[in-house]
Amino acid sequence: DLWKAEGHVRFDDVEFAYTPERVILPHFDLDIPAGQTIALVGSTGAGKSTLAKLISRFYDPSDGRVTLDGVDLRDLHPKDLRRAIVMVTQEAYLFSGTVADNIALGRPDASFDEIVAAAKAVGAHAFIESLPNGYDTDVNKRGGRVSAGQRQLISFARAFLANPAVLILDEATSSLDIPSERLVQEALQTLLADRTAVIIAHRLSTVAIADRVLVMEHGRIVEDGAPAEL
Ligand code: ATP
Ligand code: MG
Repeated sequence: DLWKAEGHVRFDDVEFAYTPERVILPHFDLDIPAGQTIALVGSTGAGKSTLAKLISRFYDPSDGRVTLDGVDLRDLHPKDLRRAIVMVTQEAYLFSGTVADNIALGRPDASFDEIVAAAKAVGAHAFIESLPNGYDTDVNKRGGRVSAGQRQLISFARAFLANPAVLILDEATSSLDIPSERLVQEALQTLLADRTAVIIAHRLSTVAIADRVLVMEHGRIVEDGAPAEL
């Protein structure tokens, strides 16, 4: 009953349009082997977020298909899909509630020990412990007393606990100070291990840790290679 995806994602001749007048992705093909980390870059409006939303089935293709381990996303049970594919966006970093609640989002059954283990894995435990009420500290949507870097670490702990086969990450554009940039980068590497990841990358340091960089322009991939080649 508990289906565990490998994380092989494929776009087969996908066409996608928000409105009939304008096709955003024309005849789009892409093969992402299980376990690969992709950095997706390209100018504004290129279609990066659209691609991410098709993988997380926020939208369905107008034509063609997106598959996970060979299965059309439309044929997956919604529960299996939500377990297998998790999208972390800048807007969804935190909601009102405690730090622990924020980490356990998507895994309401998680024990406190599991929450702490996830925080430790991504290097968030120390700063959480230093908050006035530790894991019980209330944070609001804007983060309250936590910094931008700390918000990202909390969202990474959440994704780590959810443990999806496929992680889609829209990297924050907000600049971090140097120590948190380093912490976030280390956390990211832990988070990416043993899963497929597509990161809409805004930092050069993220592009550097990817296995493969895709450059998108006008709904097409114009470059596809290892970071060192580009
Ligand atoms: P950015 O770097 O600015 O986030 P992006 O590469 O993520 O850009 P998308 O958001 O995928 O680009 O947008 C691709 C195209 O689709 C753009 O022309 C955009 O205007 C259009 N678009 C995006 N969302 C919608 C929508 N909900 N309805 C109609 N058009 C949309
Ligand atoms: Mg975008």
